[in-house]
Amino acid sequence: MGKPTGFIEFLRELPSELTPLDRLHNWDEFHLPMPEDKLRNQAARCMDCGTPFCHTGTLISGMASGCPINNLIPEWNDLIYRGLWREALDRLHKTNNFPEFTGRVCPAPCEGSCVLGIHNPPVTIKNIECSIIDKGWESGWITANPPAIRTGKKVAVIGSGPAGLAAADQLNKAGHWVTVYERADRPGGLLMYGIPNMKLDKEEVVLRRLQMLEQEGVKMVCNTEVGKDISSQDLLNEYDAVVICTGATKPRDLNIEGRQLKGIHFAMEFLTANTKALLDGQTGEDFISAAGKDVVIIGGGDTGTDCVGT
Ligand SMILES: Cc1cc2nc3c(=O)[nH]c(=O)nc-3n(C[C@H](O)[C@H](O)[C@H](O)COP(=O)(O)OP(=O)(O)OC[C@H]3O[C@@H](n4cnc5c(N)ncnc54)[C@H](O)[C@@H]3O)c2cc1C
Ligand code: SF4
Repeated sequence: MGKPTGFIEFLRELPSELTPLDRLHNWDEFHLPMPEDKLRNQAARCMDCGTPFCHTGTLISGMASGCPINNLIPEWNDLIYRGLWREALDRLHKTNNFPEFTGRVCPAPCEGSCVLGIHNPPVTIKNIECSIIDKGWESGWITANPPAIRTGKKVAVIGSGPAGLAAADQLNKAGHWVTVYERADRPGGLLMYGIPNMKLDKEEVVLRRLQMLEQEGVKMVCNTEVGKDISSQDLLNEYDAVVICTGATKPRDLNIEGRQLKGIHFAMEFLTANTKALLDGQTGEDFISAAGKDVVIIGGGDTGTDCVGT
């Protein structure tokens, strides 16, 4: 525990954000970086609990309580308080393949379980995580690290969302040759085409990690739907193992009167086409423009919010 009185001295503070009017001018991420001294104070709020519920990652009534990937949160909070960023990055990478994704878009059940939250606002775990990994990239500490020894085994991963990429990363680190098959034109799954750019930058954050995985030996094959463009039998013949990480895809419909009318779309049709237009620099056939229209969004969760923002 870095500073025993930290949680008494410092109030919870999050980084500032661009104002909503500023955000209208571009698709850039709107959370601004936090100065290092402030981050150290935030890390000092961690009490290094005897039972750190923040990293337990258990399911309670089907919902995640604490970090589902068991991030070593109290350890890196302490390291950040002491200014030991490189060591904090190593700790973070022990449990998390892609902290730059989770640090930006994870709903942070760790903070919901933080013991400090019982009587005070919880530790800003998610922002500290994001700051550690961002500093790691900025400082050039994250470099391609292909395995020293290859096992000779070949594994196919179907689907390139966070599940597929994490599986590919782990298998590659273990020395297997990994090929990821993706039916979309770009890898990343919902990291690429679900979550909008202002929450998770595609070029600077998602592509950077995808390129690193490729430099480490993971092969990505896009525009290839397994079961259509390549048969499952072909995969079984060619590879020693196959991992299926195909996500959910199917939207939940609302079969009510008027559902068949024009101008009613699933969120993902709208979001995917918008992000694709942004990345391609031009609109495609399935682009749905909300410009100048009055729009009703049914569903006020994260996906609905993403549609509002877009
Ligand atoms: C709009 C939206 C916003 C979200 N925002 C957040 C957020 O802010 N924070 C958060 O934590 N979670 C968020 N989520 C949820 C999160 O994105 C998903 O839980 C996560 O992406 C699931 O990962 P996955 O790898 O299992 O699947 P996916 O990301 O769906 O990836 C599966 C991939 O498999 C590919 N695939 C499927 N079938 C085949 C096939 N036969 N052959 C080849 N490829 C195939 C698909 O094209 C897809 O790219 C959001 C979801 C949506 C829809
Ligand atoms: S539960 Fe909160 S205060 Fe306790 S160790 Fe985890 S982050 Fe620190």
